[in-house]
Amino acid sequence: MSSFEYASPNTEAEAAEMLAAHGGQTAILAGGTDLHNLLRAGVIAPRRVVDLKNISSLQGVSMVSGGLLVGALTTLDEILRNPLLAPYQSLLQVADAVHSIQIQVQGTLGGDLCHLPNCWYYRNGYGLLGKEKGESLVAGGRNQFHAILGNQGSAKYVSASRFAPSLIAWGAQVRIVGPDPDQSAMVPLEYFYVTPKSPNQGVTILQPGQFVSHILLPEIRDELASASYEVLQLEGLDWPLASAGVCLTTSAGIVREARVVLGHVAPTPWVSHDASLALVGQSITEESAAAAGEAAVASATPLSENEYKVTIARTAVKRAVLRAMHQLQGVS
Ligand SMILES: Cc1cc2nc3c(=O)[nH]c(=O)nc-3n(C[C@H](O)[C@H](O)[C@H](O)COP(=O)(O)OP(=O)(O)OC[C@H]3O[C@@H](n4cnc5c(N)ncnc54)[C@H](O)[C@@H]3O)c2cc1C
Repeated sequence: MSSFEYASPNTEAEAAEMLAAHGGQTAILAGGTDLHNLLRAGVIAPRRVVDLKNISSLQGVSMVSGGLLVGALTTLDEILRNPLLAPYQSLLQVADAVHSIQIQVQGTLGGDLCHLPNCWYYRNGYGLLGKEKGESLVAGGRNQFHAILGNQGSAKYVSASRFAPSLIAWGAQVRIVGPDPDQSAMVPLEYFYVTPKSPNQGVTILQPGQFVSHILLPEIRDELASASYEVLQLEGLDWPLASAGVCLTTSAGIVREARVVLGHVAPTPWVSHDASLALVGQSITEESAAAAGEAAVASATPLSENEYKVTIARTAVKRAVLRAMHQLQGVS
């Protein structure tokens, strides 16, 4: 591990200032469950690590006009226990599916949203695009966990965030602070992620000196149901092979609005307008849920070893939709 400075700001403005130093060769520390791995393995070598944990404004959940403001330092365990978050069923389902009490207590929502890809080429020093001598190691290599959608460019890893699909389905926004200490902006989470075209681009719109301070959830409405479905190989701590987050608004049993977002299938969370269209105007049945699953993967372009993920992603969408239906019917 290369040596680095450690900085521990007390305010958001101080954090932005400290992150912008050293030409932005800095890293953000929240719960640290992944950052420590990245530092130890030398995947990143910042000149300064900025620890956000002493910034009290980044903690907790509060009601604000227009919804619920969730601090980036909110842990998975707090998500499960905070009564204000209880109506946001899909988020509870995601937190619960992280089958490790240690990670639930230590890992933060901001850390999950900004988690760097788990792609083994990236983690072994071949960069986000997994290239050697200009050639993709992923395209003809071990790509069973890689992207099946949005993989026509150089980036073929999958977005690691477990909460992003459900949060995007909710229409959540992120508050971004920096790079000037007093600067902040709200951005729909849907537009937070980017697919890099060159090795120097990141996986989000965050620029040096910026960090996520809060997530804004919209207010709960009647006849709205949300659900998440993740397909995991292990009973214990594991990354999903594919996941889906859905939010459905119904009236008289008919879907009026639908948001369907897939996770772990593309370099960004994958918003499926086709799956939404397959649901709007329908009642939720096995058939309409299956049609949404079909629509979600209709444009999939699997790599040499991951055709199986198409079936899994299709099923994740179908089951998330059916889960939401059970919620509307009051069946747990
Ligand atoms: C051995 C091990 C195995 C794990 N396996 C799994 C697994 O199988 N499945 C799973 O879901 N989770 C797993 N995790 C947990 C995973 O790290 C979580 O996703 C966790 O929520 C990350 O949160 P954190 O606060 O610890 O993030 P950190 O490690 O502190 O940060 C993660 C990344 O986000 C950036 N970051 C953090 N906060 C912000 C912010 N506010 N703004 C901008 N950038 C930020 C950091 O710079 C870093 O790049 C594992 C952890 C460990 C230690």
